Amino acid sequence: MKFLDLCKVYIRSGAGGGGCVSFRREKYIEYGGPDGGDGGTGGSVWAEVVDGLNTLIDFRYQQHFFAKNGVPGMGRQRTGADGDDIVLRVPVGTEILDEDQETVVADLTEVGQRVQLARGGNGGFGNLHFKSATNQAPRRANPGQEGVERTLWLRLKLIADVGLLGLPNAGKSTFLAATSNARPKIADYPFTTLHPNLGVVGVDNTEFVVADIPGLIEGASEGRGLGDLFLGHVERCAVLLHLVDGTSETIAEDYRTILTEINAYGAALAEKPRITVLNKVDALDEDERVIARKKLEKEANGAVMMMSGVAREGVTEVLRKLRGQIDDDRLRHRPALEEEPWRP
Ligand code: GDP
Ligand code: MG
Repeated sequence: MKFLDLCKVYIRSGAGGGGCVSFRREKYIEYGGPDGGDGGTGGSVWAEVVDGLNTLIDFRYQQHFFAKNGVPGMGRQRTGADGDDIVLRVPVGTEILDEDQETVVADLTEVGQRVQLARGGNGGFGNLHFKSATNQAPRRANPGQEGVERTLWLRLKLIADVGLLGLPNAGKSTFLAATSNARPKIADYPFTTLHPNLGVVGVDNTEFVVADIPGLIEGASEGRGLGDLFLGHVERCAVLLHLVDGTSETIAEDYRTILTEINAYGAALAEKPRITVLNKVDALDEDERVIARKKLEKEANGAVMMMSGVAREGVTEVLRKLRGQIDDDRLRHRPALEEEPWRP
């Protein structure tokens, strides 16, 4: 399966600075001795998972990440400065692959996680370091260690906050189209049944990603066809939104069909928070609404929300409810970020 978010990056850690050969030379001081300092360490290249990113879009604009070299040592026992590290900020779920696009270098699954991709070279020793009882005037210093150069791939598995479930015709695509603002990169996902459709949905100044997962019902949980790929995506969602067509003659069965699929897929999915929505209520009159709602609530054994994706009735309430679930989920799973030590 081809992921949209696949980016190639070129990284290089800094070389260490060379050691210095130098002797103390001062008027009236005989036998000054060696005073060449060590070279500084080269900068390393890191990847760090940060919050609030959903795509690798940044890496389409910048692909080269070269850390600075360490500064060579100098006379008068001065050590060279270290090169600064470089940090690639990536979203949760980013996989880092070697140049062959197969070997996994790192699988980054939690905010705050940090891996070193290329270690900065050690600085060389200056001649001061080589002074000994038998050699008091060494003319020897080490060169700095070379930096490491790598070509890597970043691959982001789709991370949707909300997985949209429902039988064909439940109104999933309509809901997504009505609520999501078009994002060019996200819209690049081809609208075929092989790819989930993504939308960025906004409510109350926050945004989250909703994925319409087609093919759930086509025996996906048994691994037939490509449907299980979508379920893999759904597995990472914070909350599931289950749309039930209110105009259907078989509301209870429709609901159960999806639930059976969810349960068949495994615990991870069934345990997710789920919001059940009776959709297309614009097509129902007052009495029909009451009856349909009762049917669904009985079957779902819990509260049901009413919505019409077409008329935008109840949509904001559903989005707010989803948002609440996302916050909860993130708070539960987000590890505390370590404070960066203060640096001048
Ligand atoms: P999907 O298969 O779940 O993606 O469903 P679609 O979004 O493609 O919708 C299936 C059909 O239901 C289309 O003809 C839609 O126009 C219709 N539909 C979707 N949402 C609503 C709604 O809120 N009210 C009514 N009356 N029809 C809807
Ligand atoms: Mg659809």
